[in-house]
Amino acid sequence: MSYYKIVFFSLTAEKIQDTKYFINVFSRTNGKLKLIANGLGKPKSRFTKLQLPFILAKGMIYNSREQSGFILTDIDIINTFEYLRSDFVSLNSLSYFAIFLNYVLAERLKNTAFFDKTLEFIKNNAILNLKTILSYEMLTLDELGYLPKLETCQNCKSAVPDGFYMFNFDTEILCKNCAEIIKKNNVEQTKKKTNYFDGEFIQFYKELQAKKNLKNCCELDIEKLNNILLKKLENYLNNFIINIHKKCYDDYIALKKIIRAYKNGD
Ligand SMILES: [Zn+2]
Repeated sequence: MSYYKIVFFSLTAEKIQDTKYFINVFSRTNGKLKLIANGLGKPKSRFTKLQLPFILAKGMIYNSREQSGFILTDIDIINTFEYLRSDFVSLNSLSYFAIFLNYVLAERLKNTAFFDKTLEFIKNNAILNLKTILSYEMLTLDELGYLPKLETCQNCKSAVPDGFYMFNFDTEILCKNCAEIIKKNNVEQTKKKTNYFDGEFIQFYKELQAKKNLKNCCELDIEKLNNILLKKLENYLNNFIINIHKKCYDDYIALKKIIRAYKNGD
């Protein structure tokens, strides 16, 4: 039996039976993995902390044929990022990031560079808020290849330098002409709201994209993120997120409600 050492972030935990849990983790060398943690439900289990999102740990695992999965045998907690957990909005954002990554990362697809960027991002942000969430989501989806280049209409291939259209919950970038034709001829699309994204958004988006830097994403470009751009970025990203997994979109909406309630002091 071979044992492997891995460094990982905990993402989500689910109970399988009694004290046996699945822990979804994002590991540095093996991408997303589903680990089996035996005894987690017991009061003094060393795995207890892994029920929290974004615990950075070193772990020992082995591949078990009997239990058909990776068994976690030991862990060493490296960082719990307490400063983020002491702030209510940051803590909820961490939980959301964990759910989000759990949906967008493919099982066992190694992406060490992205792991390191995520670690830098978590380390370098003293607080998390809606702006950091959106920029992190944008850079993540871009890094993982979910986002198209905002250059041409995906229907007729003509350039869209001054703006483009998207149907709500669709991921296609369309020119004005194609958006109108599709709306006229497709009954399903007629019911959907069309969103327009102007040249200012394209420019802002490309600047953000060019940075390719999760670490700084809450500092520089985000300053330019006025409320109109923020709302546009949110609408744009939600189209992709809802297509990756509806539950992820629902969790985002829940997070926004929490942030709003918290701000109003409810
Ligand atoms: Zn077109």
